[in-house]
Amino acid sequence: MVKEMNHLERCMASITNQPVDRLTAYPIACGVNRRLLPTPTTYTEWASDPKKFAAGFVAGQKYFDYDWTFGLMDLSVLAHDLGAKVRMDEQNTPFVTEPVIKKPEDYEKLVVPDVKKGRCGVIVEGTKLFCDQLKNTIVCASFLEGPLLVLTQSAGAEKVFMDMYNHRSAVHKALATITELDKDMVKAFATTGCAGLAWDYLWGSYSCLGDKEYDEFEGQKKYAGDLNALTSASGMAMCIHNCADLPHLDTQIKGMKPVIYSMAYYPLIPGSPSPKEVIGKGYCDGTLVGGNIDPQQFVRASTEKIQKTTMNLIQEVKTALCAKGLHSRYVIASGCEVPPALVTKLENIKEVVDTTKKYGQIECG
Ligand SMILES: [Zn+2]
Repeated sequence: MVKEMNHLERCMASITNQPVDRLTAYPIACGVNRRLLPTPTTYTEWASDPKKFAAGFVAGQKYFDYDWTFGLMDLSVLAHDLGAKVRMDEQNTPFVTEPVIKKPEDYEKLVVPDVKKGRCGVIVEGTKLFCDQLKNTIVCASFLEGPLLVLTQSAGAEKVFMDMYNHRSAVHKALATITELDKDMVKAFATTGCAGLAWDYLWGSYSCLGDKEYDEFEGQKKYAGDLNALTSASGMAMCIHNCADLPHLDTQIKGMKPVIYSMAYYPLIPGSPSPKEVIGKGYCDGTLVGGNIDPQQFVRASTEKIQKTTMNLIQEVKTALCAKGLHSRYVIASGCEVPPALVTKLENIKEVVDTTKKYGQIECG
């Protein structure tokens, strides 16, 4: 038996594959934490005010007792500051309503905004505030959209995928500009005290792009590769979130070598990798993988159901880790963000953490 660990000890042990007192838990609950604030706070207020953004994460940690935190706001932050129109709903995730890139020539007109201003400024300042308060208790990471995701948010995904063929060099020019913006964000996040930075590289998905296309338009030798290197050189652990159905695991885990890889699982989609397969095929040999409870369960499932789901995941992970001679390289997590909506059941978030505390002990025979 491993003696009881605190959050930081447990997280560090999992990253380095040491024995742990139990597996770590992290339902990716971000915007939903605002509902715990003593003053009623809308999503719009939370996403526009660094103090409220930070206060949400601190309140969430106090109430749910996570092992980790990702400072995710939503996926339109950078596109918003690049000039896309974003609809900010009172109580739900903001989304782009009007792209900033409409015509082929617009790809070349993107200008890197000042990351101290706009929503980039809010997320950087807010990340610093929650890291100040939480970094001695849990592992805190900032969260950032990768270049291809920023581009699809700025132009519309369908348009970008067509223009990759019709206006290839223009698309590359836009990606180069966005990579400069992402670099400014990496440098800004490096001053916040966060231990890691999680990249959202969701287009590394075989339902959208093959290896050749992903390599050309994001890839480890291209834009993402530069950003990954800068992330590590700036003193942050390079992490990746990709909740696509058919993720490019060889590129994004074996090639990019993130410290943590957060992923989803789609049991109804043939080929979607289950935790057992991910562990069995060696993707946890050098990377801590987190996944993969369906976020919709936090809205729809009963407490008993989500407890059962968590227990089944723990059992599957334990068996697979032990079979591979691994001690702890898996986080009991959600596959993507817990919906920040008012209908999300807070008790289900708590249930995932509490069930992991109760049943997450791992001892291989
Ligand atoms: Zn996601």
